[in-house]
Amino acid sequence: MSTDLISQDTIVALATSPGANGAIAVIRLSGSQAIHITNSIFRGKDLREQASHTIHFGTIRDQNEIIDEVLVSLFIGPNSYTKEHVVEISTHNSKYIIERVINLLLKHGARAAQAGEFTLRAFLNGGLDLSQAEAVADLIASNSAASHQVAMQQMRGGFSNQLKGLREDLVHFASLIELELDFGEEDVEFANRDQLKSLIDHIHQVIRRLIASFEQGNVLKNGVPVVIAGKPNVGKSTLLNALLNEERAIVSEIAGTTRDTIEDEINIQGVTFRFIDTAGIRETQDIIEAKGVERTREKMKQARLIIYLFDPTQDTVVEVQQQIADVAQLSIPFVTLINKSDLLSVAQREEYAVLSPVYISAKQGAGIEELKEELLHQVNVANVQVDDVLVTNIRHLEALQKTLESLDRVFYGIDNPVTSDFLAMDIRQALYHLGEITGAVTTDDLLENIFSKFCIGK
Ligand code: GDP
Repeated sequence: MSTDLISQDTIVALATSPGANGAIAVIRLSGSQAIHITNSIFRGKDLREQASHTIHFGTIRDQNEIIDEVLVSLFIGPNSYTKEHVVEISTHNSKYIIERVINLLLKHGARAAQAGEFTLRAFLNGGLDLSQAEAVADLIASNSAASHQVAMQQMRGGFSNQLKGLREDLVHFASLIELELDFGEEDVEFANRDQLKSLIDHIHQVIRRLIASFEQGNVLKNGVPVVIAGKPNVGKSTLLNALLNEERAIVSEIAGTTRDTIEDEINIQGVTFRFIDTAGIRETQDIIEAKGVERTREKMKQARLIIYLFDPTQDTVVEVQQQIADVAQLSIPFVTLINKSDLLSVAQREEYAVLSPVYISAKQGAGIEELKEELLHQVNVANVQVDDVLVTNIRHLEALQKTLESLDRVFYGIDNPVTSDFLAMDIRQALYHLGEITGAVTTDDLLENIFSKFCIGK
C-alpha cells in the first residue's frame, strides 16, 4: 500500500466480523463521496441534508428491488474516526445482503478498502499518531483485562504525548546548533551546552524508564510464559490439569461463551499465564534420566517464570536444595512447590520449611490459590497502575534504543572536541528515531508494514 494511493477515493468495507452469526453487520465507508454514494442507493431521507452524528432508517435498493431495511449513521468530516466523511450502514447480518450492498456501493463509485486503510487514513489525517494507530490493533486483539488496559492507555495518547514534547525541545536545540554552522569559522555558540546537556539527561531518563517498562508491558500484553518443571512423577501433569480444568470450569460458567481456544492458558486477576511445552509434560516419561534433565533445562530457559515441583516422598531436603541451586543459575524467577502435601507429616513439613515453599496437593486441589498468589507476586504486576506508561511494541522498543544510542553520542560530543556539524547530525538522528514512534517520521514501507497487519475494515 503506497500512501499516494490514499487519494480522494471513497473506501468501503465490512467493519464487523465476516461470518459471525450476530444479528447485525456494519458496512463502513470513508471519503469525500461517502454520503453521496450511500444516498444514491438509500431510500429514506436525503442523507446529504442531514446533520453529523445522526442515524436514519430506510431501505437499500437496487433499482426497485429492496435489498434490506437498514440504519445509516452519518459522521461528517472532520468529526469522524478518519477525519473524512464516514457512513456506517447497519444491515441484517446475511452474507448475501452484505455482498449485495457492498457491490452496489462499489458500482456507485466506492473502492474496496485495503487492510487497515481506515486507521491509516485516521493517522494520515492527523486523528491518531502512529503509536495510537498501532494500539487500535492491540485493543481489538486484547483478550484479558491487562492487555486491554495497556492498549487503551496507548490509544489514549500514552507515552507518545510525552515523547512529542521532548522531541520539540530537542528540535529547538538542533536548529540553534545548525545556526552555529552558518557562522562557519566564527566561534559562536547559540545553543547553551549546559541546557542541552540537562535536556538530554532528562530525555535519557524518560527513555530508560520506557525501555525498562517493556518487559512488564509485554507480560501484560502477551501473557507470561511459564514452565512447570521437576523430576518425573512429582506431579507436573496433575498440577497442569488441575490449573487448566479449573480455568475451563470458570470460562464455561460465563453464559454463552464457548471458548475452546484457550489452550494452555490461565487467567489470574486479569493476567494471562501461558504454559509452554505442555505436550512435553504430558508425554510419558520413558526417556532416560540424563536426557530428560537436559531437555527440562532447555525448556526452562524459554520461560519468564518457572514452577518447580518437588515430591517430598522421593527427594530429601538436601537433594531438593541441590536442584534449587541448579534452577537458580538460570536467573529466571521461580516458585518452589512441594507437591503431595497430603502425604506429608507435620514433622516433614517443618523440615522443608527452610526452602519457604508453597505446599500443594495437585491431586486434591489444595494450595492452588496460594500458588496463584505467588505467581502474580513473581511477575510483580500487582503494582502496575492503570495510568502507568508501558511500552509493549517491539518496534517502539527498537526506536527507543536507537534514540538512546544517538543521545549518548550527543552527550559525548558536547564534552569533547567534536564539531557542531557532527553534534547536529547526532541530534537529528535521535530526533529521527523518536519521530519513528509517533509517526512524525514515516516511510511507505513502515506504514505498509504496520497497516497491512490490520484486517480489512479496520
Ligand atoms: P509428572 O511425571 O511430574 O507429570 O507426574 P504426574 O502428574 O504424572 O504424577 C505422578 C503420580 O503422582 C501420579 O500417580 C499422580 O496421581 C500422583 N500425584 C500427583 N500429585 C499428587 C498429590 O498431590 N498427592 C498424591 N498423593 N499423589 C499425587
